[in-house]
Amino acid sequence: MDIDANLIEKMVKQVLNEIDAGKAKAEKTTAPEVKNENRNSASYGIFNTMEEAIDACDAAQKQYLFCSMAERQKYVQTLRNVVLKQENLELISRLAVEETGMGNYPHKLIKNRLAAEKSPGIEDLETEALSGDDGLTLVEYCPFGVIGAITPATNPTETIICNSIGMLAAGNSIVFSPHPRAKDVTIKLITMINKALEEAGAPQNLIVTVVEPSIENTNVMMKHPKVRMLVATGGPAIVKLVMSTGKKAIGAGAGNPPVVVDETADIKKAAIDIINGCSFDNNLPCIAEKEVIAVDSITDELIRNMKENGAYQVTDPAVIQKLADLVRKEGGGPKTSFVGKSAVYILEKIGIQAGPEVRVIIMETPKDHPFVMEELMMPILPIVRTRNVDEAIDLALIAERGNRHTAMMHSKNVDKLTKMAKLLQTTIFVKNAPSYAGIGVGGEGHTTFTIAGPTGEGLTSAKSFCRKRRCVLSDAFHIRDFSKGL
Ligand code: NAD
Repeated sequence: MDIDANLIEKMVKQVLNEIDAGKAKAEKTTAPEVKNENRNSASYGIFNTMEEAIDACDAAQKQYLFCSMAERQKYVQTLRNVVLKQENLELISRLAVEETGMGNYPHKLIKNRLAAEKSPGIEDLETEALSGDDGLTLVEYCPFGVIGAITPATNPTETIICNSIGMLAAGNSIVFSPHPRAKDVTIKLITMINKALEEAGAPQNLIVTVVEPSIENTNVMMKHPKVRMLVATGGPAIVKLVMSTGKKAIGAGAGNPPVVVDETADIKKAAIDIINGCSFDNNLPCIAEKEVIAVDSITDELIRNMKENGAYQVTDPAVIQKLADLVRKEGGGPKTSFVGKSAVYILEKIGIQAGPEVRVIIMETPKDHPFVMEELMMPILPIVRTRNVDEAIDLALIAERGNRHTAMMHSKNVDKLTKMAKLLQTTIFVKNAPSYAGIGVGGEGHTTFTIAGPTGEGLTSAKSFCRKRRCVLSDAFHIRDFSKGL
């Protein structure tokens, strides 16, 4: 077919024009403007409706994609700094206790500080590189987009701090759906963080929530197409729900951590560690010691040491029953009004006056007592005697209820420690220390307040909130040999 010169010239011009237009477009590919019609200038991430919150969060994430890793690092540090400012730390810790009526102020201070200091940031996102005869391949941790994070009443601010650090470091924006019992402190914290982020130059609305958190709003969030990933920290119901959405979901669910003490343990240390772990924030942490299973030959000594270190022992079966009637619902499970209350408060309700040194209420119970089998989240600690350590480990497996969450053991017998770790298959297994050693307090490793047993991410960190993506450069940047020429 003949093509005349005019036509060729026309085609060449057209191609050149297209190239110029493409260049101009490429030069213009900078961060899109975030439309803020959904936000009045003082709202700092707090919206009236979930739809508005998600739209703003989605726009923020698109803009966040244009920020460098240095900027991400700066924003994560900004978040840490604003939370660690003493007056802010004190405010959110005090409000969390006041609003939820659970836990205690000094321990909330410790937990919030821990979340701000020891939740990993961008350093967690280590790139994998594969090189060989065919070139270079990179595997990078990339953002999911907008993450919907559902947070518990028991660790309301700690979870938001820890999730925000990891999720922002990973390049995401976050819609929080907090427990309605913790809404005011959540709004206060999210406002505080957004304000600091905006002052540091970050896109607006990287972290959002709604004025009235509710189950309905959580449902809207879970179904919303712009929310790419769900992270639920809470009881079994919400974990099951997020896992059934068809979206990528991380479920951090309930535990009922047993602690086994055998005859080889340092009994005094075991007693002190158990009381410290069990009483931490009035037993609210999902990792805290919930029942003790002790070998008979050392049980008396263990109880004596516990009593010398902050335990009040109830021995009368009628009083133990009275206690159970007080703190458990008729159909089973803890009454909300007693979750996270202090030992002194609970004892007072059954007519026992105890001094402030009392941190945990202990009692001997049969192995199938509800105090053993149910996650109470209050400083009531049943003790079950067993004939030997093997029986203790078998019982620990039953009491853990298949949560595969956390367990502790005090022993110097490496074989039995190994047996228990193998058999229980918990996400966290702590040897010869309080439970909190498992989240980086007196134990190596980073911290988290989202321990994902059911979905397997374990102690979540920035990389848990990422998609792994592969980038392949064929036949280049493999520099070890000249086999393919220079
Ligand atoms: P919860 O299950 O009552 O609530 C957790 C969150 O889920 C809240 O935001 C709540 O509003 C929401 N939620 C619950 N049921 C829902 C439903 N049907 N639809 C929509 N949203 C729903 O738990 P909680 O009392 O806030 O927290 C305590 C529980 O969380 C304990 O079981 C504890 O072990 C667990 N927890 C686990 C971890 C972990 O890292 N694995 C950490 C903290 C708490």
